[in-house]
Amino acid sequence: MDGLPLDGFDYASILGQCCELPVGYVQLPVGVAGPLLLDGRRLYVPMATTEGCLVASTNRGCKAIAESGGASSVVLKDGMTRAPAVRFPTARRAAELKGFLENPANFDTLAMVFNRSSRFARLQGVKCSMAGRNLYMRFTCSTGDAMGMNMVSKGVQNVLDYLKDDFPDMDVISISGNFCSDKKSAAVNWIEGRGKSVVCEAIIKEDVVKKVLKTNVQALVELNVIKNLAGSAIAGALGGFNAHASNIVAAIFIATGQDPAQNVESSQCITMLEAINDGKDLHISVTMPSIEVGTIGGGTQLASQSACLDLLGVKGANRESPGSNARLLATVVAGAVLAAELSLISAQAAGHLVQSHMKYNRSRRDMSKAAEEADRPKKC
Ligand code: ADP
Repeated sequence: MDGLPLDGFDYASILGQCCELPVGYVQLPVGVAGPLLLDGRRLYVPMATTEGCLVASTNRGCKAIAESGGASSVVLKDGMTRAPAVRFPTARRAAELKGFLENPANFDTLAMVFNRSSRFARLQGVKCSMAGRNLYMRFTCSTGDAMGMNMVSKGVQNVLDYLKDDFPDMDVISISGNFCSDKKSAAVNWIEGRGKSVVCEAIIKEDVVKKVLKTNVQALVELNVIKNLAGSAIAGALGGFNAHASNIVAAIFIATGQDPAQNVESSQCITMLEAINDGKDLHISVTMPSIEVGTIGGGTQLASQSACLDLLGVKGANRESPGSNARLLATVVAGAVLAAELSLISAQAAGHLVQSHMKYNRSRRDMSKAAEEADRPKKC
């Protein structure tokens, strides 16, 4: 195909695993933002993107965070989900299976059956929902350093086979009944979480807000309420209470070999800004309940993607503590989102500040200078 490079790619690494009928490969630039000072680590974040300004803006946020002493994160949950749909002759029978699965007395047996699928899959729980005589069973399990879709699906299949004995009238409609919910915008992920649920926070000092972000704390807090909270509320947002989390999630996902389609739920994020220390400093946080990442399996093993994981020190399986590489990667995603939220919200707040200055009639020369400053982060 004209213009599409064919040579210079290791097709053996993708055939039968990552892509069928290959006719070439698409090239994407990778930029690096950082250092991102996160939980005491200095990290350089690879971002594959063709959106001008994105890496520069994230980099500016990283600078503001570093000059304020760094960000810290916490992983609240770590569990991949799969929810098969089954149908019974009656809703009463579907409810009987729901009762069986949700009875704590049956958990150990279910976990034993489920966990046979892998050394790393460990059942955490099952949550059921019904639509008439259809039953949707949302299984959650830990998956080590793998993102875990294959692993959780195998565990679910074991349980379905096991249930056939006691529930012979159960008709398995699909191994995935969309209550999972994979690659679709859904409240269940926003509320219950899927993959890694992460909160990341930082306190940005007053002088850093002025010097690096070219705005002030009050303007940032006000803008966040009007835009990311109220604006998103009137838009009917589902997990979209942020400025551009999906920009960063997509860029890191592509660079590190994640499944880019999972950007849908992985980008769910609420950004909170508050003035603290008598209104002088800024507390910023991002809460992201569904970051779906892995450091082994899928596209992570390809040469370029694995080099990007290596840059972060999370390449492959963590042998001493399975799961900690993938959890660290999830915190990096949240940390980079924090940086990029900070930078973009600041650029927009600075733009607003310029307009207010104009209104209050400062000299023409001052205004052009201020506009230049405020526009810089938006243009770069
Ligand atoms: P996914 O479930 O994300 O699709 P795969 O099943 O394709 O992932 O890849 C995970 C594979 O890697 C499994 O075969 C698993 O046994 C193996 N593996 C080795 N070490 C680990 C680890 N630390 N965490 C998770 N999986 C691991």
